[in-house]
Formats: sequence, structure tokens, C-alpha cells
Amino acid sequence: MDSPIADHIAALRRRMDEAAQASLLGRKDARLVAVSKGQPVEGIIAALEAGQREFGENRVQEAAAKWPELRRSYPGVTLHLIGHLQSNKAKEAVALFDVIQTLDRPSLAHALAEEMAAANRRLPCFIQVNTGEEPQKSGVMPMEAGEFIRHCREGLALDVVGLMCIPPAEDAPAPHFGLLRELALKHGLTQLSMGMSGDFETAVRFGASHVRIGTAVFGERRAPSL
Ligand SMILES: *Cc1c(COP(=O)(O)O)cnc(C)c1O
Repeated sequence: MDSPIADHIAALRRRMDEAAQASLLGRKDARLVAVSKGQPVEGIIAALEAGQREFGENRVQEAAAKWPELRRSYPGVTLHLIGHLQSNKAKEAVALFDVIQTLDRPSLAHALAEEMAAANRRLPCFIQVNTGEEPQKSGVMPMEAGEFIRHCREGLALDVVGLMCIPPAEDAPAPHFGLLRELALKHGLTQLSMGMSGDFETAVRFGASHVRIGTAVFGERRAPSL
């Protein structure tokens, strides 16, 4: 039976291409990261069968339960950590993931640098920026981004490739995407992870290199699992 998930992915890729064409900043090579948190394994397999190879998970435990086995059946997967990471799970995260998108504080940067050195694995990292300066949200403040980027790159030799943001739900996303882009340019970073199911076209028009899309690929999530 044909899965609607393959159709969703094809339609999303078309919309990403159109958004990239519609703007001078748009990148035709923007990558679709399928966010598989809270999704049943059958849906993930349908995406893999459709050729999707970049996925995002927000919890170490959940990723550990699903991905080692899926990777054995489907080589070439790139797994992005897109959720808050506790420093005491840095070792497990370095073993499981290929990209860390949520580097958001000095203590985590130190833990990751140590575990990457120990595992001899140098994962590309995105620094999460709290563009809305929301007290409850993770991410470095825009004003502190420059110093944190320097510390991660020069002090800790982390492979910082770009910036990531999650705009406040109640705001128009465009100014947040614009700010993230400006900060990246200012600090010589080329990758931008921004845009989700509801706003990925705007993100692509503002130069996203990665969009993180869950429900528009797979449908509604189950209750958050551990
Ligand atoms: C869950 C999640 C997404 C995907 O959200 P959708 O609205 O389902 O596309 C993207 N980014 C992060 C950080 C998330 O936690």
C-alpha cells in the first residue's frame, strides 16, 4: 500500500524549491530534516522507503530506542539532535547522533567537547539562539552569540557550522529568521536551521539551509514519549 508520507515528502520538497526560487536568499539545496519524535516506527520506515535520510529527534532515550536498529536496515541516515540536551547525556548523544543542533550553553559545550574527543567523533554543531529572548526557552541570547561562538570554536575546537532558532509561537517568524541569518553572516557561519511545519516556506525564503518538519511529514504526534 502506498504511504501518504512519501507524498507528503515530495510535496514538501516541491514547496521548498518554490520558496527557494521566490527569494534571492533562498537556497535550492536547503535540506529537509524529518522530525520523527513521537512518531510510530511504521511512519519512519515509510519515510526511509521514500528515500528520506535526514531525521531529527529531540530526546536521547527515544532516539536510542529507535535508531540503532533502523540504521542497520537503512544505511546513510543523518540523525540530528534538535532538543534540549542535559550535559550528563552528552556521551550518549555523541554516540547516537550525527549533528547537534541545540548547543545552547557553556556547560554543554564543555561536556560535548570532552565526549567528542574521547569518542574521536567531531560532530557538526549548530548553536541555538533564543531570538525571542524568552526566559523559559533554551538558547544563547542574540547579544551573547558572538562570544559563545568564539568560545566554542576557538576555546573548545567544536565544529560549529551554523545557528538554529525556534521563534516564539505567538510571533510572526520572519523577523526571527532574519535576525538568525544576520547573526550567522556576522560570525562567518553558513548554515541556518530554521522553519517547522507551519513556517518552513518563510524560513527557506530567508535562507534556511535546514528546515525541521514533523507533523507535515508524518501527521500528528502521539503523546510525548520518554
Ligand atoms: C517538534 C519540533 C519540530 C517539528 O515541529 P512540527 O511543527 O511538527 O513540524 C521542529 N523543531 C523542533 C526543535 C522541534 O522540537
